[in-house]
Amino acid sequence: MSSNGAQDELLMIPGPVAVSPAVLEAYSTPPPGHLTPRVIEAHGSALERMRAVWCAGADSQPFVVPGSGTIAMEMAVTNLVEAGTRVLVVDTGYFSVRMAEMLRRRGAQLEVVGAPAFGETVAAEEVARALDAAPYAAVFATHVDTSTGVRVDAEGIARAAAARGVLSVFDGVCATGGERFEQEAWGADVYLTSSQKALGLPAGLALMVVSPRALAAREALSSAPPMSLDWLQWLPIMRAYEARGGAYFSTPATNLVMALDVSLGELLASECNGQRGIAARFELHVRAARAMREAFAALGLSLVPTAPGHMANTLSAVRYPDGTDAGLVKRMAAHRVLVAGGLAPGHQGTYFRVGHMGWTVTQPALLLRTLEALEEALAQGGHRGFERGAGVAAARVQLS
Ligand code: PMP
Repeated sequence: MSSNGAQDELLMIPGPVAVSPAVLEAYSTPPPGHLTPRVIEAHGSALERMRAVWCAGADSQPFVVPGSGTIAMEMAVTNLVEAGTRVLVVDTGYFSVRMAEMLRRRGAQLEVVGAPAFGETVAAEEVARALDAAPYAAVFATHVDTSTGVRVDAEGIARAAAARGVLSVFDGVCATGGERFEQEAWGADVYLTSSQKALGLPAGLALMVVSPRALAAREALSSAPPMSLDWLQWLPIMRAYEARGGAYFSTPATNLVMALDVSLGELLASECNGQRGIAARFELHVRAARAMREAFAALGLSLVPTAPGHMANTLSAVRYPDGTDAGLVKRMAAHRVLVAGGLAPGHQGTYFRVGHMGWTVTQPALLLRTLEALEEALAQGGHRGFERGAGVAAARVQLS
């Protein structure tokens, strides 16, 4: 079997992630032209499906462009912010720091409301208080910070911003399609992501859905963003594809667009506990996260996030037990399961990260295989504080 297969290396880092066989098949087609009927259909359909996956309004505008999560962040920043724009950044780790740096480079006047300590979050009430303390045009938050596994209360932040007439922008790179997010109901203005995480695709696409208010803010800018990032440059292209016409500004990543339509179709066809659709997909992530957490607890391991209420469902940041170090990640790789080391500056050597998002949450066998490799690697490293098989057994209860 190929890259997803049980015999092969299993990619359980927090992105990129293993993809479904159907996504792989759609991607692995001889490169189609960007104006061929099947690309036009896939592109148009993917844009429509994005609104459903994002739980966004009919009047919202989806964008899909070639790129990465960082490019999606840059697109949001450059379309909403110019020199002197006052913005608030909610800092929960490495990727919020990156967002703040982008905003600074754009000349924004920046305030930061930060988590009090590593592994903690920023409460929505605190964000609301900060928004009351000074006038802001926009608030930027990272839905799930991949460096810590900390999730913010996106609903609370979005509602607080909307109630005050402030735009809200969420980096959903490690969340979109995996964590509950209701863009329309919560009044969130921009929800951005990239293809290689919970959407379950190879890397290479930057995606976002933008509210009419956010588009109006772009129109009101006094200077245009860089051309390749400009929403107004891409808008006629997105509209043309959605109308099943197609148009050219810059070549779309055609294989990825074909695969995107398939992956979004899979997300929307999800089923879990009697639910169907995107709500079921979120629930599958809740179930996988619960299974992994139960397993870690059974193995005597603790997590970086300090309370269950802000632990992400898309990944776990797990502290090394006493006497264990980053060699654990290498030993797991020897068992052909890839997880990632820590990413937060100053804490890298104290924890590792396991992604459980996208297609893998629909495959209990892959989650259990990850835990088997973890148990092996812990035992080989001399960790004695657990009973062999306890992690796998604890997870199995949740997954059955
Ligand atoms: N934001 C978050 C929350 C991320 O996890 C990542 C990637 N790990 C990024 C932004 C940047 O995405 P990319 O690596 O695709 O540029």
